[in-house]
Amino acid sequence: MQEPTHILTGVIIQKSFGGIRPRDLALGLTATVAFLSHGFLDELARITFHPADPDFHSPFWVGYHAAVLMTSILFLFLWWKKYKWGIAFAAVPDVDWIFIHGQGIFHIQIPFYRQPHLHDLLHLIYHRIPPFSWLTSIVNRLPNARHNPWACLWEVLLVAVLLLTLRLMTMAERPSVRPAKLQVT
Ligand SMILES: [Zn+2]
Repeated sequence: MQEPTHILTGVIIQKSFGGIRPRDLALGLTATVAFLSHGFLDELARITFHPADPDFHSPFWVGYHAAVLMTSILFLFLWWKKYKWGIAFAAVPDVDWIFIHGQGIFHIQIPFYRQPHLHDLLHLIYHRIPPFSWLTSIVNRLPNARHNPWACLWEVLLVAVLLLTLRLMTMAERPSVRPAKLQVT
């Protein structure tokens, strides 16, 4: 999936475990679930526009990825300070692509980082280890639309649902806000 989806998922996961004490347990759960969420979302990416290789000659590919980049920056601006732990673990596997594509761009070689190690680990978990592998077998029944530009709408929809979920969670944790506002008006 694209980075905004991973960022938002990390925020929601950290928020979900926010009430758990001791705090170390909440952070441990957040890190584990956020890291695993990356593997699931990347399996789900088959239904969205997600070609393996960049296509800088396609105006749509460039425009879409520019929008993705802007949205990622906006989301980090909004939530990094408060939810950096969840965001970091939800997004950290994509460090693989920074190392791998970075070597190509700068013409350098890092012998131990020629493979996407973190994605390989998630792939192993989601293809070999139940119950994660069961989820993958269900997701694999969905149509593969990685090369269909219209399929980006599925990811836009998912981001909208995640935003709505976050909004509802925020509203639920502040029941006192509404009466206070009513008194003012
Ligand atoms: Zn990924």
